[in-house]
Amino acid sequence: MSKMMSEEMKANLAMIEERKDFIVCNKEDKDKKIKCDAHSAAGAVSQRACVYCGARVVLNPITDAVHLVHGPIGCASYTFDIRGSLSSGSEEYRNSYSTDLREHDIIFGGERKLTAAIDEIVEAKKPKLIFVYSTCVVGVIGDDLKAVCKAAEEKYGIRIIPVESSGFVGSKSAGYKAAGDAILKILELDGNKKEEKYGINFLGDFNLAGEMWIIKSYLEHIGVDVVSHFSGDSDYEKIKNAPNAIMNVVQCAGSMTSLAKKMEDKYEIPFTKVSFFGLEDIRVSLRSIAYSLGDFDMITKVEEFVKVKEKETDEKLEYYRKRLAGKKVAIYVGGGFKAISLIKQFRDLGITPVMVGSQTGRPEEYDTIRKLADEDTVILDDANPSELEKFMREKGADILVGGVKERPLAYKLGVAFVDHNHARKHPLAGYEGCINFAKEVDLTVNSPVWGIIKGERHGVEHELSGSIRSLDLEEQVIANEK
Ligand code: SF4
Repeated sequence: MSKMMSEEMKANLAMIEERKDFIVCNKEDKDKKIKCDAHSAAGAVSQRACVYCGARVVLNPITDAVHLVHGPIGCASYTFDIRGSLSSGSEEYRNSYSTDLREHDIIFGGERKLTAAIDEIVEAKKPKLIFVYSTCVVGVIGDDLKAVCKAAEEKYGIRIIPVESSGFVGSKSAGYKAAGDAILKILELDGNKKEEKYGINFLGDFNLAGEMWIIKSYLEHIGVDVVSHFSGDSDYEKIKNAPNAIMNVVQCAGSMTSLAKKMEDKYEIPFTKVSFFGLEDIRVSLRSIAYSLGDFDMITKVEEFVKVKEKETDEKLEYYRKRLAGKKVAIYVGGGFKAISLIKQFRDLGITPVMVGSQTGRPEEYDTIRKLADEDTVILDDANPSELEKFMREKGADILVGGVKERPLAYKLGVAFVDHNHARKHPLAGYEGCINFAKEVDLTVNSPVWGIIKGERHGVEHELSGSIRSLDLEEQVIANEK
């Protein structure tokens, strides 16, 4: 295969006209505002997830809830198996239920089937809480989810919440809002409001590989009571206590800001945004929580804690910094707030971000990204595989950090990949996470497989194109070890 890309391949990487406002080069386009928080351009093959997926991402870690998907079986393929969320209690959330709508139901309506599914689940599982998700086809045929759920609630005396998440009605962000509204409904209908407010709620951690437990241990160490947390390792009873908190601490800003704003209006709980990814953001977040609570002892404890933990972590990171200095990374993640943390975290390891993008970033987040990024960094919102490929090639990225949908693209391009999404099984938050992150970046980018692909080992001059051939990383590593 020729080392040069064919003209046809280059043409395939061209951007469509409607996408041009969503992409900026930090320096060349310094007077141009990036377009974001908008519908995907038709035909652009967006990497974004659908509304239902956005809602399910947020609600699925509620461990004792039954998650019933009203739609064709394909929508229900989103299950615990593709999530790393852990539970300290119920394991019910590991199951996925579907009404399995077929052609007949789509023609004659699926409400009876939904009622029957709820009856069967209540009899078999005796749950206290059921979420019923609508999907694309339900939005099209117009099943009345609210009426079915209300009738079932009255019949069984349990909470059954319809989640309006038909895939086509917006983007993943609309799903986040639908999930936030579902949680708010629990607070409104069942909230355990007490006389005295205390502690914080932690919003937007999904307890991937126990990350909520790590963060909670830090908060407990500095003397912060965690009243409730959504949605990682949360359950119906814990969620109900949320109106009693003094403050909401929001980590996944993309999914939880809307709920935090509504809780501020309704329960007068102010919120602050934090991130526990990377040394700098952990430090800033712990300080921000302590200062916001106005507790002098807590502020002192934060300073002592941060000093000890940063020293310990820094010493371990030094090994990786030497091995990673000079590499280039392309970042494409779900939310803008996470992208901001990642820019700082990669910089700390000596790695330069050359492309930064997100599925659901907001204007203020892109403003921060532009301030942090180098002048020739490409910044893009709601990208598609063709654009990611184009800019990764142009900028010579050594690593792509993203989620499950980006992994095959990286491997097809012969580029290292770091998973920073919900599928992972190891924590990346907290000080432990900083070391895990550096280790993962080192393992992937310094893997011998990339040398084999580029022919460095065998003197073969070839380049594999994403459009032409995919690579199995594990096979390549095993082959190299032999
Ligand atoms: S809700 Fe619609 S877009 Fe989402 S998975 Fe189901 S069919 Fe696909």
